[in-house]
Formats: sequence, C-alpha cells, structure tokens
Amino acid sequence: MAESPYPMLSVEAALAAVLAQASPLPPVTIPARQALGYILAGDIRARAALPPFPASVKDGYAVIAADGPGIYPLVGEVTAGRMADFAVTPGTVAYVTTGAPMPPGADAVVMVEQTEKLWPANGAAQVEIRVQVRAGDDVRPVGVDVAAGELVLEAGTRLGPAEIGLLATAGVTDVSIYPRPLVAVLSTGDELVEPGTRLGAGQIWDSNRAMLVAAIAAVGGEVMDLGISGDSQASLEASVQRGLIRADLLLTSGGVSMGDLDLIKPLLEHAGQVHFGRVRLKPGKPITFATATSGNASNAHTCLVFGLPGNPVSSLVTFYLFAVPAIRKLAGYADPNLPRVQARLFHALSLDPARPEYHRATLRWDMAQNCFVAESTGSQSSSRLLSMRTANALLELPEREGELPAGALVTALLIG
Ligand code: AMP
Ligand code: MG
Repeated sequence: MAESPYPMLSVEAALAAVLAQASPLPPVTIPARQALGYILAGDIRARAALPPFPASVKDGYAVIAADGPGIYPLVGEVTAGRMADFAVTPGTVAYVTTGAPMPPGADAVVMVEQTEKLWPANGAAQVEIRVQVRAGDDVRPVGVDVAAGELVLEAGTRLGPAEIGLLATAGVTDVSIYPRPLVAVLSTGDELVEPGTRLGAGQIWDSNRAMLVAAIAAVGGEVMDLGISGDSQASLEASVQRGLIRADLLLTSGGVSMGDLDLIKPLLEHAGQVHFGRVRLKPGKPITFATATSGNASNAHTCLVFGLPGNPVSSLVTFYLFAVPAIRKLAGYADPNLPRVQARLFHALSLDPARPEYHRATLRWDMAQNCFVAESTGSQSSSRLLSMRTANALLELPEREGELPAGALVTALLIG
C-alpha cells in the first residue's frame, strides 16, 4: 500500500510548528482615524489629563459646601467650553452646566433639581439651596477619568471603537500598528474553471478561491488573487513563485493528496522547506506547511505557505486551524488563537476512532439551560460545502470509538 513519506503530526504539534515560523510584520504608522481593526504596535499614554480642569458633573449651582442650605445671591454663570471671569466667595453661588470648568472658590455642585431660582422685586437673582452637600460633590477633579501620562492602551491591543475613542481622548492622532498580512491564493486543478463559465466535460467551478478570498478578508488579511493553475509542473511553479516573492502567506488548494498529479508537496520541497505534510485530523489530513525565502541576504523575504487540501470543506477547516493563527500572529495579535467556548451537544454525534474530528456546528445560546448548545450542520462529507453553511464553530471531537451522547459538553472553536 502506498504510504505518505510525511510523519503524521498532531494538530497541536502542527500548529506549534506554524507559529514558530510566524512573527509580527514590521510596524507602520497610520492616522488613528483609519486604525479600526488593526493591532497596536506600541503602548499609548495620555498626552493630557481628562478632565484637564475641575469640571461640574451636573447642571446646577457651584457652591462652597460649608455654606450649607440657604438663599444666596447668584454671582455669575459658566457653561461648558468657557472659563469663569469671577470667583465664588463665601455666601454666593454660580450657575454651571455639565462639563463646565468650576469657577474659582467653589468646591461642590448642587444639582438644579435641589434648588429654586428666586427673582426678588428689587432685581438681582438669588438661588435657594435646599440640601447640604460635601466638598467635592458632583465635581470631577483633574485627571479623574484619565491621568496625564497614564497608560491607556497596551501594545498588542486590537483597536475597536472604544480604543479609537481612547486614542482621541489621549490626544493621539497617529499610531504605530502592525500592517495586514498580504495573503496570496491559488487554486490548482485541471478540472477547475471560473464560476460563470460554461462547464465542459469533467469540469467544476472553482469554489475554494472565492471562499478563501472572503475568509482572508474576514480575518483581516489583504488578498492577492493568483487565479487557477492547471496540474502541470511549469504552470504551478510560475504561479507559486509569483506568490512567494510578494506575499506574506500563500494558500494553495488542491494537489496535496496521493494522486499522480498532486504536485504541490514536491514543488514546495524544491522551493523551500516543508515543515509538515500530514496532520492527524478530520477533515484535512494532507494539509502541508512550508516556508520559502526569496531575495538576497540583505533583503530576504520569507513566505509561509499552506498547501490546503482541495475538498472545499477540508480547505476551509484547515484554513481556520492553521492559516488563521498564522495570519493573526503576523498581524500582531497577542493571542493568535481563535477563542474557544464549551457547548452542549444538541444531538448525539458518532466519533472517529483514528482521528480527532472538527465537526461543523451552529452554536446558539440556550436561555433555559444557560449554556451554548451546538447543533450539527448535517452530513460532514469533506466535499459538501453545505456542511459549513451557518457553521460558526468547529466542535473538537476526540478520536475514540462510539459516540458522544446528546447533552455532552464539547469544546467549540469559534470561527464566526
Ligand atoms: P485534490 O486535493 O486536488 O485531489 O482535490 C480534491 C477534491 O477537491 C477533488 O474532487 C477536486 O475536484 C476538488 N477541488 C479541488 N480544488 C477545488 C476548488 N478550487 N474548488 C472546488 N473543488 C475543488
Ligand atoms: Mg487536484
């Protein structure tokens, strides 16, 4: 029986081999307003305190707390964005709005709901203060939200909307981030034609490339589309070379099994170093990982190459298991792994005795059971892309005889 010369690695060992070859790309500086979704390459400290001045928390009256309840003359008003040109002296009050700088002399704010404005017949306005407040009440001291120089964001943080807001709060307009990895995609197979073209005898539409292009974009990579190559040495070599010299990662699909025209593994052996050519998992056993370095000593460029299996499901599952952590590591993620949660099986699932299975499932939160419930997407055939439709998780099923009963707890790798 023909046997692959490549040792069979566990998923964990294979992933460790991938991550050992991946390192974050050199950081670049971009405007903070365009930094959504990128990973910070350096710590961010606040350039100024927030608030920069003692500020009122309420619409009301700035008072001297020790004065206590009573009726006091109104000496002025300060609205947000203005500074008082007067002081509050014992026995007087001033009108303030939320966010306004406290007038000098005042040490507390009484909210407008606890006061009454009076207009005596002889003219000048007075305010009745109805409650006793303490010094500092409803005043935000300088720097209470953010101190000047405070570390507001750490290197390795992903910039979401709150983090973009924090950059603005910190007075930062340009940030150092890790760029998005450039990921080249090549479909291989004499049978493949572009969707939209008429199918000739023996042909099928190339679905892997459209799928992988979308998957790359969804995890934050830039795409370089290398099209389709037929199963000839010369054509494959030319397409692979185009990817190797420019891209940070190259994904090929197809041509890694044991067939006569499965030429990708020998081609990668020739172009660089193959780190593994077989992994014990289902689906996706022939997944192949290599690195290839091009350029000269002073300007070397290393490309991480994933020879994904041709079956569409195997292609996408191995993309999530091995290529996504690599893309995330290049993109600067502190933790390149996708998150995992525990879920209860909605129905019994039979196990594979020889290989751990990554079973496609849809997770939903179950209000009554207070946990995630995982529902299988049905037949798990690796050629049936419908088994990935609506899947937002891969259930990590152990290699074992028999089945897991409904209600069993499993680990689910979140893919969407
Ligand atoms: P291979 O790994 O090249 O032996 O391909 C395994 C199976 O996946 C075959 O049935 C191929 O026709 C199919 N396949 C390979 N590449 C693609 C692709 N890009 N789109 C759809 N099916 C593919
Ligand atoms: Mg093929």
